[in-house]
Amino acid sequence: MEMLQLDGVTVRFGGLVAVNSLSFSVAEGSIHGLIGPNGAGKSTVFNAVSRFRKQDAGTIAFKGRRLDCEAHEVVKRGIGRTFQNVELFRGQTVLDNIMIGLHTSSRADFLSAALRMPAALREEAELRQKATEVLESLGIPGYAGRLAHGLPYGVQKLVELARAMVLRPSLILLDEPVAGMNPTERRELAQVIRMIRDSYNMTVLLVEHDMSFVMGLCDKITVMNFGSKIAEGTPDEVQRNPQVIQAYLGEED
Ligand code: ADP
Ligand code: MG
Repeated sequence: MEMLQLDGVTVRFGGLVAVNSLSFSVAEGSIHGLIGPNGAGKSTVFNAVSRFRKQDAGTIAFKGRRLDCEAHEVVKRGIGRTFQNVELFRGQTVLDNIMIGLHTSSRADFLSAALRMPAALREEAELRQKATEVLESLGIPGYAGRLAHGLPYGVQKLVELARAMVLRPSLILLDEPVAGMNPTERRELAQVIRMIRDSYNMTVLLVEHDMSFVMGLCDKITVMNFGSKIAEGTPDEVQRNPQVIQAYLGEED
């Protein structure tokens, strides 16, 4: 089954075509890479899927159903994401940062929480438990009570990941998850991403500028350049594709 399907998706910024009639699909249970040089349109694809920036043409389907809802409903439908630049509430604890993610899908909205305190409190405890579990599975339970401000960069990236995971999305979008990480952190994060897929049953779509990182991790890779798809296939196929080599060489000039 296809978890996500893009069909002829186009996103324009004024005269600039950031994503140009892009079609590709992400299979359920896969780790799918979306790669390409800087400015290729990768983050714009993520913004279209998570409805931060609606496409100008084309369709996006999630689990076979057309995705044309607002951004806040995307979360409820089962799509989580992280951002290219870490966005944490610096003055809040790690646990609070993760529970902010949960509150967006909490059954007890602000009003009902005020009216039905005991139920809300029970839910609060459940949310705390879920957040704690995710921190444990990411190997950073000791950070729960620490302020986000001043945490090592690698830990900040994991906290952001935890916030997306805690909602148990069926599809998680990771935008440059290893940017700014050292080689050891990169290897560890590759393991974490496999764990998310295998233990949390999440389908993973990840954007990476770094081609070497995705090679050992992804089942399938879609390559973009200047808004268009230029190649697709297994890591081996993509790595040998002359157009892909050209796109990356061109970037180094
Ligand atoms: P990538 O993530 O592959 O590096 P982006 O999707 O961020 O690329 O950007 C694709 C193109 O769209 C770039 O030329 C970028 O400058 C442009 N772009 C992205 N977001 C905006 C925006 N909000 N307004 C105008 N241009 C944008
Ligand atoms: Mg980007």
